[in-house]
Amino acid sequence: SLKVVLITGCSSGIGLSLAVRLASDPEKNYKVYATMRNLEKKQRLLESVKGLHKETLDILQMDVTDPLSIQRARDRVQEGQVDILVCNAGVGLMGPLEVQGPEEMRRVMEVNLFGTLQTLQAFLPDMKSRREGHVLVTGSNGGLHGLPFNEVYCASKFAVEGACESLAILLQQFNIHVSLIECGPVNTDFLINLQKTEPGDSSLDALDPLTLCLYQRFLMHCGMAFQNAAQDTEDIVKVFLDAIRSPEPAFRYYTNGTAPPLVKLKNTKVDGLEYIREMGKHTFLQSNPGHLCLL
Ligand code: NAD
Repeated sequence: SLKVVLITGCSSGIGLSLAVRLASDPEKNYKVYATMRNLEKKQRLLESVKGLHKETLDILQMDVTDPLSIQRARDRVQEGQVDILVCNAGVGLMGPLEVQGPEEMRRVMEVNLFGTLQTLQAFLPDMKSRREGHVLVTGSNGGLHGLPFNEVYCASKFAVEGACESLAILLQQFNIHVSLIECGPVNTDFLINLQKTEPGDSSLDALDPLTLCLYQRFLMHCGMAFQNAAQDTEDIVKVFLDAIRSPEPAFRYYTNGTAPPLVKLKNTKVDGLEYIREMGKHTFLQSNPGHLCLL
């Protein structure tokens, strides 16, 4: 039977690809509500579905930081119910903690954490009353382990993990499944869209030289990690599809097929230090052993 899917953050990246795939499903199993904060950005999505899918795709305005906008989108779902909710909207923030402004830090929490929670608040009551539903959340390796120069982003994504795990315990009593789709680096606009302190930025002038050097090494490491390991959105969409089609969906899916190696380390060596040391070596040494920060 037809499943109604609502996805947040569909103007680009993972949300866009997932919306396109589900709306062009050969079996026409899905009615997709692709939502985005700014409808002026809907062109890319429309071009990707090539205008062929009028009956399986609807585009709605929804800013996850605005509860009224979430309610309005919910009330425009013609079927009157959402079977599959995908909380995907998210933003990044990268740079030394000391230079982050309060507004930028709050914005990351507003979108990634409160945006996800507010979306859930709007759609859970109906799923609960029907004793049916599937919530999927785009998770991140940054929600599973810390990453230097990503303190606020990781805090927001760790928080999402905690919220989802807590909810899943309750929601199993309602036959509602919760699935986190844990992504490593993905080729999207995420890196372009994220707020990043650029090396020449004047906010870095007051920063101590060791942090600055380590930040530059981190950026190099990041660039290499992305080049070597980034997945395409199609790979991520396959994992979403697996989860969506499963009669007993898992709580966590890893888009690389397995948990990141350092997560295993973190979970087996419970004093926490081993992970911190290894991640430090991995980030600051392995990528470029010739140039150390000997300050
Ligand atoms: P992206 O920047 O292309 O997509 C994020 C989308 O969220 C954008 O379309 C953006 O407009 C939207 N968004 C931002 N603020 C919003 C708001 N207030 N209301 C509604 N929508 C809003 O990047 P992406 O990689 O497709 O990101 C999707 C999700 O994947 C994010 O939650 C991100 O944290 C997660 N993720 C991405 C990567 C990666 O490397 N790209 C890795 C791990 C996790």
